[in-house]
Parts: sequence; C-alpha cells; structure tokens
Amino acid sequence: MSRAWLIGAGPGDAELMTVKAMRTLASADVVLVDDLVNPEILELARADAHIVHVGKRGGSPSTPQHEIIATMLAHLRAGRSVARLKGGDPFVFGRGGEELEALRAAGVKVEVISGVTAGIAAPATLGIPITHRGMAQGAIFVTGHGADDKEPDWRALAATGLTLVVYMGIRRVDDIADALLQAGLPGDTPCVAIESATLPKQREVLTTLDRLPAGVSQAGLGSPAILVIGSVAALARKDAAALPGRTLTVGLGFRRGVTVDQIEAAIGTCLAPNTIADVATVATLETKAGEPALTAFCERYRLPLVTFSAQDIQACFSRYPALRTSPHVQTHLGVDGVCEPCALLAAADGMLIREKQALDGVTVAVAVSGQSDKQDRSRTS
Ligand code: SAH
Repeated sequence: MSRAWLIGAGPGDAELMTVKAMRTLASADVVLVDDLVNPEILELARADAHIVHVGKRGGSPSTPQHEIIATMLAHLRAGRSVARLKGGDPFVFGRGGEELEALRAAGVKVEVISGVTAGIAAPATLGIPITHRGMAQGAIFVTGHGADDKEPDWRALAATGLTLVVYMGIRRVDDIADALLQAGLPGDTPCVAIESATLPKQREVLTTLDRLPAGVSQAGLGSPAILVIGSVAALARKDAAALPGRTLTVGLGFRRGVTVDQIEAAIGTCLAPNTIADVATVATLETKAGEPALTAFCERYRLPLVTFSAQDIQACFSRYPALRTSPHVQTHLGVDGVCEPCALLAAADGMLIREKQALDGVTVAVAVSGQSDKQDRSRTS
C-alpha cells in the first residue's frame, strides 16, 4: 500500500509549518485537510493533488471520523499517497491518535510530522512563555470543550499552580472561569484569550480571571481561541498601550540602590486592587532611567519605560496647578513631586487614580490612560 502522513500544519501563519511538513505536502497525491488549516498552505500541495476538505469545527457539520478514515484507506488502496493535514500539531486535540490507530490496524505505515501547536504559538505572539523560571514550572494543555460530558477536574488543575492552556474553551469561558474561581484560583490571576493567533486577524484580551468572561464577551472573541491562565499571562505585551486591560501607568521615584524586589513590592501595593498585569507603562525622571533595579523590573514584566525631563515635570505642574501646591505630591525622598507628573504624562491626558505612596525607598503614583473604557475606570475607582 502507498504512504500516509499525518501532518501538522501549524497554528495559522503558513510560515510556521515545518520544512518537513512542506516537503511532504508537496509530494502527496491526495490531501485531506481540516478547516482550521490556513488555505495558503494548500498552495504548497502539488497542482494536480486531489484536495479533500473534511471540516471538523465544533458546532458545524463535519465529516464523521469513520468517513475520513474510509476515504484515506480507499485512496491508499488505489495506490495514492495520502497526506492528512491538521491544524497545529496532529496529536494535540487533533484526533490524530485515532486516525493513526485506524490506519495501522488496516496495515498502513504512517509517518507523523509534528506541527507547532496553537497552545504554544498563540501565547508566544504576545511574548508569553508558557513556562518561566520562578513563575511557572510547567504548563497543562486542557480542552475546555467538555466533550462526552467529561469536565476536566478544574480543582485539581488549579491546585497545580501551573500555567493552564485551554483549547476549545472560548464558548464556555464563563463556566471555566467560574470553576477555577471556585477551585480557589485568585480573581486577579492574569489571563489572556487569543483568537486566530498568528494570523493578521489575531485579536486578544488581556485581563484577570474574575474579568475574563466579561472581557471576552465585550471584545466579542470567538473560536478558534486559546486561553492562557496563570502568572505568565502577565508577561503579555504586544503594543502594550493597545492591550485591553493594560490602561495604567505607574509614575516612579526611588532611592539609589533599591532592589528590584523593593520596586515590585511598592508598585504592587500601590496598584491594589489592580495588579502589575494592568500596567501598560512605567515612567520616571530621565536621571533615574539607568538604575539597574528599574531596568530589571521592566524586563521582568516586559514593560516599556518612559522618562521625562525636569522641564516636562514643570510643564505638567502648569497644566495641573493643584499638583504643585499639594504637600502630598511635593514631599518624599528628596525627589519632590515626580511620581504624579510622570504617571500623568505617560498616561497622555489620563487621570490620577492613586496618589503617591512611599514604601521602602520607593514612591509610586498611578494614572489611568485617557482611552480607558468605563469598566476599567470603575474597577480602579
Ligand atoms: N491540533 C491543534 C488543535 C486542534 S483543536 C493544535 O495543535 O493547535 C482546535 C482548537 O485549537 C481551537 O478551538 C483553539 O482552541 C485552538 N486553536 C487552533 N488554532 C488556533 C489559532 N490560530 N488561534 C487560537 N487558537 C487556535
């Protein structure tokens, strides 16, 4: 009998296919393709290849599994080589295992060609590593679909403290968030939902667990989407200012020689009940920009640092005269009044939501940027 391949087409972007997948696809007589596969990829098939679409999207009509296998076997028995092309990796929620078993049982030799799975590629587009030293010792791929009435044991999953990467969960995001909150995951656990990852139409919502369902429904996100739940989601940054949920700017002052942990603790305290996951930008005086602890903090959270000159600060005082006369703004650490102006300047006509707090050699004020939506304002008030 002829050759058969189970091929991973990658998450969407045609360039995320492997070289082996490309080469193999270009040799096949018949290609059976799922509907999550980017149509551009089919251009890599031979011009005379027979292409069979076997859509299997949740909710829409699809070719039953036994028919897919029967079609493959019919072509193989007729002496044609068959490439079975699947989105992402064929063995990650792709039913590749079942197809492999059926083909093997029929005496067919099958080669599996791995692909880049959406659960890794989607977060990677935002700079989220699903494992990260000191943050997440591992990651769990889980289906949120609840097929066959078998719900994942969310309580057990929450207890692991690992990054949860949920496939097929966007339509049930309310139930999933509920279950994880009930299982004891804190409401401020960072989360991101990413739709159509790696494609030009990619959209994402960066938020926290308690706001995930509302965020997804406000943005109108739908399938296909990946949910990433866990502290690594706070590392997300694309165009930080444009990320929903990231509307806060932090104005910072500090003594020379502070540690990154002191900066982190002070910012965390001043932000509460918000978290560093809500921060789009860190701002300080330009003379402070080179402080190693500050650089380390911005790197740790992948946050951009913007700096302002003494003249910028003066200009800000002219725009907000109340700041110049506020003793609260003007006193601290001998570096008078930089936190509030820096936060406001970086927020581009935003408003101050936290006055300066001083903690352990660090002073922090927080502003919300002008474009923030109502919900963000209400949460921070
Ligand atoms: N084998 C595939 C997964 C198939 S299950 C893989 O390894 O990636 C289908 C689910 O994968 C979708 O419901 C969605 O959760 C996820 N998915 C696939 N492509 C995606 C994409 N481009 N962006 C976001 N999620 C995607």
